[in-house]
Amino acid sequence: MAADRAVPRPRRGGPADDKLVVLRRILAREREDGFRDRAVIGGLDRFLSAQAALLGPRLGGIEPYSPLTAQQRPGWVSDLVARLDAAGVPDEPQSSPARRRPQSPARAPARPKGPPGSIDRLRIAGGIAQYLPRLERLGIKTVGDALRHFPSRHSDFSQISAISQLVHGGEHTVVAKVREASETRRGGRGTSTEAVLGDETGTVRVTWFGRGYLARSLRPGSEIVVSGTVRTFKGRHMFESPEYEILTGQEELIHTGRLVPVYPTTEGLPQRSIRRIVRAALKAGLGGVAETLPAEVREREGLMGLADAISQLHYPDDAARKKAAQRRLAFDEMLMLVLAVRSRRRTWQAEAGRAPALPRGGGRGLTDAFLSSLPFELTGAQRRVISEIGRDLARPQPMVRLLQGDVGSGKTVVALVALLLAVDTGRRGALMAPTEILAEQHFATVCRLLSSGQGRAEPDGAMARIEVGERGAVRVALLTGGARKSVRERVTRAIADGDVDLAVGTHALIQESVTIPDLAVGVVDEQHRFGVMQRAALGETEERPHILAMSATPIPRSLSLTVFGDLDVSVLDEIPPGRKPVRTRLVANEQRQDAYDFVRGQIERGRQAFMVFPLIEGSEAVQARAATEEHERLSAQVFPDLRLGLLHGRMGTRDKEDVLGRFGSGELDVLVSTSVIEVGIDFPNATVMVIDGADRFGLAQLHQFRGRVGRGAHQSYCLLLSESGSPGAEERLRVMEKVSDGFALAEEDLKIRGPGDYLGTRQSGLPDLKVASLFDTATSAMARREADRLLEADPGLRSPEHAALGRRLREVLSASVGTGG
Ligand code: ADP
Ligand code: MG
Repeated sequence: MAADRAVPRPRRGGPADDKLVVLRRILAREREDGFRDRAVIGGLDRFLSAQAALLGPRLGGIEPYSPLTAQQRPGWVSDLVARLDAAGVPDEPQSSPARRRPQSPARAPARPKGPPGSIDRLRIAGGIAQYLPRLERLGIKTVGDALRHFPSRHSDFSQISAISQLVHGGEHTVVAKVREASETRRGGRGTSTEAVLGDETGTVRVTWFGRGYLARSLRPGSEIVVSGTVRTFKGRHMFESPEYEILTGQEELIHTGRLVPVYPTTEGLPQRSIRRIVRAALKAGLGGVAETLPAEVREREGLMGLADAISQLHYPDDAARKKAAQRRLAFDEMLMLVLAVRSRRRTWQAEAGRAPALPRGGGRGLTDAFLSSLPFELTGAQRRVISEIGRDLARPQPMVRLLQGDVGSGKTVVALVALLLAVDTGRRGALMAPTEILAEQHFATVCRLLSSGQGRAEPDGAMARIEVGERGAVRVALLTGGARKSVRERVTRAIADGDVDLAVGTHALIQESVTIPDLAVGVVDEQHRFGVMQRAALGETEERPHILAMSATPIPRSLSLTVFGDLDVSVLDEIPPGRKPVRTRLVANEQRQDAYDFVRGQIERGRQAFMVFPLIEGSEAVQARAATEEHERLSAQVFPDLRLGLLHGRMGTRDKEDVLGRFGSGELDVLVSTSVIEVGIDFPNATVMVIDGADRFGLAQLHQFRGRVGRGAHQSYCLLLSESGSPGAEERLRVMEKVSDGFALAEEDLKIRGPGDYLGTRQSGLPDLKVASLFDTATSAMARREADRLLEADPGLRSPEHAALGRRLREVLSASVGTGG
């Protein structure tokens, strides 16, 4: 419980206490800032005299600060800090939610309110009700959610300027008196407020567009702080719709005069409103935030307290405190990520029981027959990884290995070897793909690779029996959700009866109705669903399958330690020889015709082309429509004499199969597609990939598209059509022209785009990161170090000082089952 862990609180002496705490902060800031009397707006003397009635009785008489020399000021500050100490004023504000009682039923409005902590109980001027739908859109339903709705940045309005110091284009904060203010009608959008503000050094004009109501609150002589960018109009400086705060001498500044948070928000919820809401949430909820980290960890790593960190990330006293707050919160997230990863590994390997130990080369020798039937030599990397996997499979603990390799590095062959090792001992293998098209392609590829020697395939729609060398047959089946019901049933039954050696499919494979007897090796492509795959195997046997996950998303080593620390990692860092790098060209929108001519030229040489229209936003339906329209336009106007096919996610499985089949057999020249074409599709005769709207994609993703060509012996090309004329977009796409290595591109991507959206952790079934960056190696190393200590000392995280972490970890682990675990 929070209660038994809370530090005893100093007595709350009354309303003066808050101001005293504020004063302590101001003094600390004044010290850090070099005693320039800039720690509080208007200067310390003004602050003190405004609060004299409250402070006097507690602190006694205070002499003025501003007349003091630089040498005298530190002594004055120390003296005042000593008086605060003597008065028992704590370091931190003590806003306590316990004091905020739920409203009594008699006073509650008609609308029923949510449970305690629900955001609709928050009290703000004007009421919270009007904002509820918008807050919900931001994912804010509780006060706790609001506490963790962190600003995306801060505007630095901490320095106060005199009006005479204003510079055109500069960001300034001014403390001034209202000279005059009036409501004016200009243009069509309601009324505006125009005001003249003045201080001892001059006057400045301010306009707030569309906010005529403001004029009424700006009484001449009242004091106001405005922060914003200074513009020049007819030779005079002015502010346009600046942030503002009317001073009453009572409130803490939240919109101006400090580092002001700028929040991610949504239509109809202006910055001022969300700022007020989060501010109110901090007041109401911060006191109830219990520390989650053991004191020992905080001390060892020099981490700020949790409540303090949350408060400082919203309203930092200064840049250094903001950084310290970020560090603490990033550590929390990273620690949870590492704990989740470590615990999953434990569950799989320690509790998961035994896996079948597959003797290398044992049994039927299909694996060797297959390897010797391949029409190419394995690369060194493939051989190395195959032996890593072989070693894992020979052990009685389940393998949990990630196979990373750039597009075209030959992952499928490696996976097939792992699967055949299972079949060789009379057990079964399964290969799971993220989409139907990929599952279908995998099925086709497996059949093709298996029969590349003298073997003969006997394909039967969704099932095939393939002779591999002289060694016997492998029975392969395809199971997808989109297949006809009768086919699904037939395949499911065959799998359950043990009549299928290799089951290929989508997540349909791991549905409850499907059991794969004697499943020894499961391969998952482009996803991280180890847990579900293992559960699928839990039939009559206690044994768990070995799991191999494949990914073409290049993940830097430091990262994979954190995110995939639960896996052993193998890397195929070698592309098969003789492969010519795909030549990549950026094509300006005006040169579109050149791109079309180039496509035509390749087709005249007997090659084929992809034209991808990847909308990044919009539903499947929207994407499908865009591709359909483009297909019609190209067929009618650009390539009326060529054979064009269309592929999108809205098509039925059979239509997709049909169009891919026709493209594969050369009946189509051009395949127009949405981004469904992205991963894994393999057509060696296709030599051109045109990506229309390439500027909308990250480099890593473009690289995936590009990997669809260059898979055969012919020189291949990738044309990037970009509608955005922005130099930034062009510079980014130019990198594609120069760099063909996926790992190098990933690094470039990082440099250009920042780590933000590079790797969604959600895809790995791990908790989301809001503050932490996966690429912050210092924090991630710290988290690994502390996670190891914690788990060593208290594996179940059940001791009182670890209980909060343990609870959160169990939450994370149970939530991740659905997506990844
Ligand atoms: P990815 O890693 O992108 O899944 P694939 O396994 O689909 O790569 O292999 C790409 C292509 O290269 C396939 O046509 C495959 O048959 C071929 N291939 C795989 N290994 C080799 C090799 N060692 N030498 C030549 N071609 C290979
Ligand atoms: Mg592949």
